[in-house]
Amino acid sequence: MTQAQGKTSEQLHDELLEHRFWRYRGCAPDPDQPTRMVGDLSLPVGAHHGPDAFVVEGQRERIAREAKAIEVCLSCPVMVACDAYASSVTVDGKLAEPDGVWGGRRSLERHKALIKARHVRVAAPRDRFATPQKRAALAALAACWEPFEVAATASRLLASWGEGPMDVRTANWQRSYLVRLLGLPKDVTRMRALAVAREQGLLEGVAVVPDDGTVPAIPPPTKLPPPAPRVAPVTVLPVPARMPVRVMPGQVREIPGQLSFEDVFAPAPLHSITPDLETAA
Ligand code: SF4
Repeated sequence: MTQAQGKTSEQLHDELLEHRFWRYRGCAPDPDQPTRMVGDLSLPVGAHHGPDAFVVEGQRERIAREAKAIEVCLSCPVMVACDAYASSVTVDGKLAEPDGVWGGRRSLERHKALIKARHVRVAAPRDRFATPQKRAALAALAACWEPFEVAATASRLLASWGEGPMDVRTANWQRSYLVRLLGLPKDVTRMRALAVAREQGLLEGVAVVPDDGTVPAIPPPTKLPPPAPRVAPVTVLPVPARMPVRVMPGQVREIPGQLSFEDVFAPAPLHSITPDLETAA
């Protein structure tokens, strides 16, 4: 984690001053010779920061003085805490201690470290935007800005890459994520966010369709269409086994020309088959 485990410059400054070995720091005044530095009596107190503005110091003298001051730092019991504070960045983006030798490092070395850290932070979005969803959302934002249109454009891009679609909520979230990764304020305009994205190489080969400069990069909450009414699930009851119907003779309506119930179900009278038997005999 950068900035000494996420602490502010003020916190790091307090930690340095409250360090239990602070009083034994190398650049403190010597008790017997208060104008000399306890860590190196050949150096005056304040040698870490050079002579005052009214004394001219040549480059060679400065380099020699700083080398001696660094020697003192290397034996100092609070060097780590001192460097953490002096190399930290304030809320306005500047080094907490821009001048002099602190924590064993020259001013130039601390400034170089700060610039390097900024480049690392700037390079981060490019890596994080390597996913298809993020690339599609950014390219869609370059082509349009209406939330549903951005989602539809991103979905078409994703489909061409063999990926699933993107709904409008996800597209809005990706726009917000883009702004955050670029280190821009939430109310930044779309054109400004795209310009920064292009500066960082995130829009290579992507054409930007300009707006009037007032379109926000992060849209206000998008009103979604009302959900379709829910249809109550239809319960299919099991079909009961067919019950045998018992038809009583009197309940059947006889239709002229059809066999009557008695004709069908009544046993044939014995005398009706007897002549046939007699004939057969
Ligand atoms: S590290 Fe160097 S500048 Fe910091 S307190 Fe120690 S001697 Fe002084």
